[in-house]
Amino acid sequence: MTKPIYSIVIPIYNEEDSITEMYRRIADVMAQLDGETELILIDDGSRDRSLMMIRELHQRDQRVSYLSFARNFGHQIAVTAGLNFVQGKIVIVMDADLQDPPELILAMIEKWGQGYQVVYAQRLSRKQESWLKRLTAYVFYRVLRLLADVDIPPDTGDFCLMDRQVVDVLNAMPERNRYIRGLRAWVGFRQTAVHFERDPRFAGKEKYTFGKSWALAVNGMISLSKVPLRLATYLGILSAALALFMIILVLYWRLFDPASPLIGFTLITIALFFLGSVQLFCIGILGEYIGRIYEEVKGRPIYTVKESGGVKASAILTPKPPSHSSF
Ligand code: UDP
Ligand code: MG
Repeated sequence: MTKPIYSIVIPIYNEEDSITEMYRRIADVMAQLDGETELILIDDGSRDRSLMMIRELHQRDQRVSYLSFARNFGHQIAVTAGLNFVQGKIVIVMDADLQDPPELILAMIEKWGQGYQVVYAQRLSRKQESWLKRLTAYVFYRVLRLLADVDIPPDTGDFCLMDRQVVDVLNAMPERNRYIRGLRAWVGFRQTAVHFERDPRFAGKEKYTFGKSWALAVNGMISLSKVPLRLATYLGILSAALALFMIILVLYWRLFDPASPLIGFTLITIALFFLGSVQLFCIGILGEYIGRIYEEVKGRPIYTVKESGGVKASAILTPKPPSHSSF
């Protein structure tokens, strides 16, 4: 196969019920593209029949290549790995559950033709997702926009098209904490949106548990903003102001109203708990940043691969492999 023009990257974690239909719909779209296309499937340590089905697709269709992680590393890392191996000039990232309609790829390519290097899909609505998920997503994207150093378009996920140049920049970024949609906004270049209605999942359960979504949200916030670190300073100023007010009040009582019953254990206890929790909260925030510094400093590979097909074997090491690498 000659070098493809289009690369489609799809992370897969326990999607045995969606894979066949996903492949069918993507193959339809691939047939409409005007150049060679490769489909890179990343198995993120699935425990169902996903890997088996992926292998089968690879054997049947030479445009399909795959990579299988030695364990579950998470969606963002799976996308990262996919981007490490793409060969195309135009790269598309999408989910396996058909919540991202493959047909939108054609509209994205049209935008690329107009000179845009990043075309992200922006959701107009989320069909059949719980109100809690919709509400938390709505609030999160807006808070992130407020606090982040870069302008992140709200209601966008990882579904996007990227030009080779952008992918090369992303691949050259060594950080382990990878919040792709944030990094994608950070790199710059000419960006634009295409809009779509987010379909319900084709089959199976959502792979993002509450814990995973929370971790993604915290990662996003911390990788893009230093505002939480400053929160300690703001809270410190606030409690100092409060303390000053209390000092004046207590002095006033002492001098002019010695019989006032308000001073005493109640007040001290409240102040104690208040300050204690403010301090713990701030230490917690510091911990989040320090934990991430620790992760970066350790310099471990971002993922480990147990099996692959169709991607160049020499490339199977992570961007910065340790010298004693044994996988
Ligand atoms: N996914 C993954 N690893 C994980 C969780 C999810 O590769 O640990 C994949 C999953 O198979 C799907 C995509 O990431 O292709 C998005 O997952 P999901 O549909 O559960 O999330 P949401 O629709 O809420 O973004
Ligand atoms: Mg989904």
